Amino acid sequence: MGFLPDDGAAGAAGAADDVLDVRLGAMADEVYLEGCPRATHSPPDVTLVILVADGARPDALFAAMDSGALPALAALRATGSAHTVTSVFPSVTGPAYTPFLLGLHPGRAGIPGIRWWDRAGTARRGPGRARSYVGWEALRQDVDLSAEHRTLFEHGERPLGAFTPIGRGLVGAQRIGAGLSFGLRMGWTHFRGDVPGWLRIDRELSERVAHRVATERPDIAFFAQPGIDKLSHQLGHGSPLVLDAMRIVDGTVARLQELARRGGWADELRIMVVSDHGHSPVQSHEDLAGLLAQWGLRVRAHPWVFLGGGDAAVMVSGNAMAHVYLELAARERPWWPALAPRWTGLLEQLLTRPSVDLALLPRDGASCEVHARQRGSALVHRDDQGRYHYTPRTGDPLGLAAVFAAPTAARGLSADEVHAVTFDSDYPDSLVQIIALAGAPRSGEIILSAARDWDFRAKYEPIPHRSAHGALHREHLLVPLLLSQAATGVPRRTTDVFPSALQLMRRRVPGGLDGTGFY
Ligand SMILES: [Zn+2]
Repeated sequence: MGFLPDDGAAGAAGAADDVLDVRLGAMADEVYLEGCPRATHSPPDVTLVILVADGARPDALFAAMDSGALPALAALRATGSAHTVTSVFPSVTGPAYTPFLLGLHPGRAGIPGIRWWDRAGTARRGPGRARSYVGWEALRQDVDLSAEHRTLFEHGERPLGAFTPIGRGLVGAQRIGAGLSFGLRMGWTHFRGDVPGWLRIDRELSERVAHRVATERPDIAFFAQPGIDKLSHQLGHGSPLVLDAMRIVDGTVARLQELARRGGWADELRIMVVSDHGHSPVQSHEDLAGLLAQWGLRVRAHPWVFLGGGDAAVMVSGNAMAHVYLELAARERPWWPALAPRWTGLLEQLLTRPSVDLALLPRDGASCEVHARQRGSALVHRDDQGRYHYTPRTGDPLGLAAVFAAPTAARGLSADEVHAVTFDSDYPDSLVQIIALAGAPRSGEIILSAARDWDFRAKYEPIPHRSAHGALHREHLLVPLLLSQAATGVPRRTTDVFPSALQLMRRRVPGGLDGTGFY
């Protein structure tokens, strides 16, 4: 079954969309008011629905719940539990879904950014080595993912996915909102910045997914709602229309619960509501690729990835982070110590720019230099026991010198201890996130995290961004997590969602994940 009988036509005109809304409403009333849809197979013990409110900040979402605007989410918090957890770096849709669907950091999962350079040529088929998941190449995310790890869909018996950038393990009609006509409609809505269009898409997906969950009773349904993020980019996260998008998420939860109650399976329904990244205002856009070209480098960057030269590739995500790949002719990744004699000048130039907050220079798979504009540099290192170390060199870029000067930190800190001591800082979970991305084979040689109010892309965005994400800042890293079944452990990171989902689905949790189950 396609997304909707005539979604392509409906996407082309607002009037047609309105007709469609009415039709969906009629369909919903027929189906739901005159009896509840029932699964045709024997239903699973538990139906778990993971709902990604893409781009929702915890402070904004919880404030809206407190105000009474989101009653279903507030009820979920009252009967279950609510948490603020850390997402991953880069905090951007696509890569930041790997924690939910594979339990891995994005670099380890094989997709280190929404744009990246395939230096080793291990993934790219066809000409060029630049990858961008903005546009048709979004379909390549499933192919680029690590084959060693199974997705949540591959663990499920009857999975369902909707509007998910990662869908490996879904077949045919199990993947809602992935057809060509829906893709064209999405592109059309994206490129003309159609705010009502995004809200309509969210509402339609919401109704459609609730209906499919009720009729098919999957063991796992994973569903992303894009409206909060899309509207935040365009209007700012505090816009009243962003609250409308949150209300649609609230309505999805209410609808699922209502259908489960009517169908007599409310006790078997589990819901997690989570986000993949936050948002913060952006006032100025640095044309990072243009800047490097101005400094005399031969640069490749989207959309002109077949032009330029072999000095550097600038691959921006979010748009508040960037991988900068150097010396593109090399097929083996060069680490910073070998690059330093030739590229320290570039680093110093970058650190003069107000747009640059942090520059990360991977030294090997487990250590990385961190340079901050005007705050000096430090070395981050993970030892063989998995403990983290932070050594100030010319300054204290992450503000952790005092923590690591204490005798208790002499032998390093565990990942959970790092999380605890950094959670209230400007860079929550910084050391774990930095090593996870810096050490990934597909990452760049200089990784930049943007300063507040800045991003790294000044051209080629169809809609000017007023709000951005992608960086290592707390506004981008912290996300909400709401659980219908209260956690018995401590949820810390979005990587914990995957093993916890398997626990609820009563599946074995594989070893070697980046997260820990909280049930
Ligand atoms: Zn976004």
